[in-house]
Amino acid sequence: MDSLPTRLLRVNPLQPDPGIIREAAAILRAGGLVAFPTETVYGLGALATDRQALRRIFAAKGRPADNPLILHVAHPQELATLARELPPAAWTLARAFWPGPLTLVVPRAPQVPDEATAGLPTVAVRLPDHPVARALIEAAGAAVAAPSANTSGRPSPTTAQDVWEDLAGKVELILDGGPTGVGVESTVVDVTGPHPVVLRPGGVSVEALEGLVGRVTIDPAVEGKPLDGPARSPGMKYRHYAPQAPALLLEGSPEAIARRVVELAWEAAREGRRVGAVVMAEEGSLLEGRLPDGAVLRILASRDAPEEAAHRLYGALRAMDRLGVDRVLLAAPEARGVGLAVRDRMYRAAGWRVEQV
Ligand code: AMP
Ligand code: MG
Repeated sequence: MDSLPTRLLRVNPLQPDPGIIREAAAILRAGGLVAFPTETVYGLGALATDRQALRRIFAAKGRPADNPLILHVAHPQELATLARELPPAAWTLARAFWPGPLTLVVPRAPQVPDEATAGLPTVAVRLPDHPVARALIEAAGAAVAAPSANTSGRPSPTTAQDVWEDLAGKVELILDGGPTGVGVESTVVDVTGPHPVVLRPGGVSVEALEGLVGRVTIDPAVEGKPLDGPARSPGMKYRHYAPQAPALLLEGSPEAIARRVVELAWEAAREGRRVGAVVMAEEGSLLEGRLPDGAVLRILASRDAPEEAAHRLYGALRAMDRLGVDRVLLAAPEARGVGLAVRDRMYRAAGWRVEQV
């Protein structure tokens, strides 16, 4: 299966050409793989009813078999056909946040294939807020399983070029609808228990969930080390979203972080190595002109603008790979709003290596 001819087609993100959507849907119905834009990141789609195609997703991404997929639907009612039963919180959240970057984990209906759920008794479902994604799912005539369209472990793709980098030769088609908006993945919420549990922070903030349903808990795997026991969201236990070079997350005041970045960058330069810094504007402004030649600086956004940081994060991490730096230093935004998701991805990108400065 290694080298398929992969086609890349441009598609208008607001008003996708129906001919292109029909063609893409026909590929899905024939068991093929199609990467497409969503409002979060690019997804790698296969028809959720086709076990063989689902297995191809795992092969193309090099995804561990125990990491389940999110099923994408075009209409909220489809949630009822994929779930065995629906906890009341499921409808409340779906009504409020769909279409949008929220994934609901519900008890699975018997017809949902094991390949989609990695054998779990639950299934993850989302209705994306992107005209291309919705038109494609609608035309496919069934739910579309779609994890992020990257090689497992790498930063998720926010442009069609990112997808091409990882999956050319492994998928039939990539739909290029331009850069994605949110930039980090959906918030995954388990609604099978007495109150909702956030398994993965993402585009919908914990504050927004709480505003609607009151008490929400955050799984300890978020912002923490991976647990020893079985993970409730299997995707959370892996080092993930990582640049090729080892990464370190620095925490402290902008001044202290900037000082440490300068120190580490010059230390590396003396050994002939190059550092890349992916930091917030507060550190960034202190770093301009203080780094050695060859060091790379990428500024995400100011600390109180987590949406902008989310939008730029994966592109900055992928740039570190393209520029071939030897070490990556990270600084995070505040943990509020989508900032929680950005911090979470940075922890994982760093393999939980954090230095307080
Ligand atoms: P991705 O498709 O790359 O955004 O990853 C999907 C995420 O959803 C992973 O972290 C999965 O572990 C998580 N997920 C999918 N299905 C389930 C489920 N049934 N229970 C818990 N987590 C899930
Ligand atoms: Mg992913």
